Amino acid sequence: MAYFALREKETSIKCPKCGKTLKIVRSCREVKMRCDACGSSWPLSEFINQADEAMEEFIQNVYIDRI
Ligand SMILES: [Zn+2]
Repeated sequence: MAYFALREKETSIKCPKCGKTLKIVRSCREVKMRCDACGSSWPLSEFINQADEAMEEFIQNVYIDRI
């Protein structure tokens, strides 16, 4: 099975601004949370303590990708 690195993934974390769900997004070497609904983006560190499965999986993939 080929390894496929996702660039973004839907999470269950709510946007602090509008309450819609955030996506976790990787751009170049940075990972952050983004809201498509209101266009805001947030540092991953603000949500790391409430990370859901989707986020944890994504973060693991990012680390694998970097090794
Ligand atoms: Zn929002």
